[in-house]
Amino acid sequence: MPYHTFINTLQTLLGPTHVLTDDHDTLPLCLDWRGRYQGKPLAIAYPGTRQEVAEVIALCAAHQVAVVPMGGNTSTCGAATPDDSRQQLVIGLKRLNRLIAIDPDNNTMTVEAGMTLLEAQQLAARHQRLFPLSLASEGSCQIGGNLSTNAGGLAVLRYGTMRELALGIEVVLPDGQCLSALEGLRKNTTGLDLKQWFIGAEGQLGLITAATLKLFPLPSARATALVGVASPEIAIQWLGALKQRFGDRLTTYELMTQVCMELVARYQTADVPFMAPCTVLLELSDSGDNETLTDQLVEWLGERQDMLDGVIAMSESQRQSLWALREIMSETQRLQGHSIKHDIAVPSSAIPSFLTQAGARLEAAFPGCCIMAFGHAGDGNLHYNIAYTRPDNQQLFDDEHAVNQIVYDTVYALGGTLAAEHGIGQLKIHWLERYKDPLQLKLMRGLKQQLDPHNLMNPGKWLS
Ligand SMILES: Cc1cc2nc3c(=O)[nH]c(=O)nc-3n(C[C@H](O)[C@H](O)[C@H](O)COP(=O)(O)OP(=O)(O)OC[C@H]3O[C@@H](n4cnc5c(N)ncnc54)[C@H](O)[C@@H]3O)c2cc1C
Repeated sequence: MPYHTFINTLQTLLGPTHVLTDDHDTLPLCLDWRGRYQGKPLAIAYPGTRQEVAEVIALCAAHQVAVVPMGGNTSTCGAATPDDSRQQLVIGLKRLNRLIAIDPDNNTMTVEAGMTLLEAQQLAARHQRLFPLSLASEGSCQIGGNLSTNAGGLAVLRYGTMRELALGIEVVLPDGQCLSALEGLRKNTTGLDLKQWFIGAEGQLGLITAATLKLFPLPSARATALVGVASPEIAIQWLGALKQRFGDRLTTYELMTQVCMELVARYQTADVPFMAPCTVLLELSDSGDNETLTDQLVEWLGERQDMLDGVIAMSESQRQSLWALREIMSETQRLQGHSIKHDIAVPSSAIPSFLTQAGARLEAAFPGCCIMAFGHAGDGNLHYNIAYTRPDNQQLFDDEHAVNQIVYDTVYALGGTLAAEHGIGQLKIHWLERYKDPLQLKLMRGLKQQLDPHNLMNPGKWLS
């Protein structure tokens, strides 16, 4: 079908204002979050209903037009960016942002996939429930994007990632058929759990239009502390001891190395209360009242002989100040300059070995490099960023491949993964080829071939 006829058909389906074709409008939207990939799409279409999504995808299938689903575009590795051929149609989900149903007694809600994570959290809270996924990008990222990247974040330790938080899913398949499995069931033994095919698939198997999500009681009490210990080994021993004492009330366990806190002290006005080789932000949450929970945490911390320093939040504003130290970490590192970033995970017990081994190998290869490691130690997931603080940073970027190889070799030797948050996108395709088990990749690609034989869903990414 000629370009103009295709666009006219789309505009007739969706209304002319919901199809963008001008470069002035489309190009800024097709720039990857970190500015690394610039796509040039055929157009950007914004369907408003599941039915419209199905019609657009069926139209694309009939004319062999490739589709790139786009949520909040925050995944940072080019996953939602089209190529520059002007042959790929981006489908934006922002108009699919409605609540479909909420069942507080069943602790579930069903929402459309274009709802932002923040809106989903707020919606749950209005019904006295918690939707616990929490990320720094929550104001922009969408439920469909969260599912497609299997997003985690600050409370995975207690509540799990999107894989654990989704009970049902609705997906438009590459041929335009709609797979609707939105049941809010916690038990179902009628065969395979098909929703798991689409979670983490980065839009390569179908376009998610809605999901049924797990809700939890809103915690009424929180106890938050920032503590300093002598090493990551001690931080990980504490993690085990805290789980033993507080069970799943331990909600957040974030680790920051001394370099990270020094950068905060240098670049931010925030008050860094102490310096220690390893700083941990930990939070408990529960029913009951703050005072009782805080007293329990104070008592537990008081028994620790190996605590170098610590601050416990005695009010909500103090809690916010402690959280701010963790939340400004990415921005602080941006102020210090570009870095080579990784979102790796290892078993949490292997974090100390990872930090020691990767640090020694990088220092040997790139003497004087600055390693900024911080993140969700409770689930083994660290941001591991490398830069020089001196002007010859470019030399490091020229050797980015060697840096990545040192990091990923160390990660895999310890049973870890090269992507635990931001997905694969375009950025890590060849690393996935190198490290992922070939049989697993073959099975995944077999599924892709079955569902999308003409490779129309988000082509050029890692399943193609
Ligand atoms: C400041 C910052 C902090 C972050 N912190 C975290 C964190 O703590 N934990 C974490 O896990 N991630 C984190 N991220 C990464 C990112 O926010 C997540 O990966 C998020 O889930 C992406 O959602 P999105 O809507 O922006 O998806 P997009 O970036 O738009 O898309 C991501 C992938 O999903 C596909 N996709 C999007 N919507 C759909 C749909 N409806 N159906 C099918 N496929 C779809 C796209 O094609 C693409 O392949 C962070 C990012 C930033 C910028």
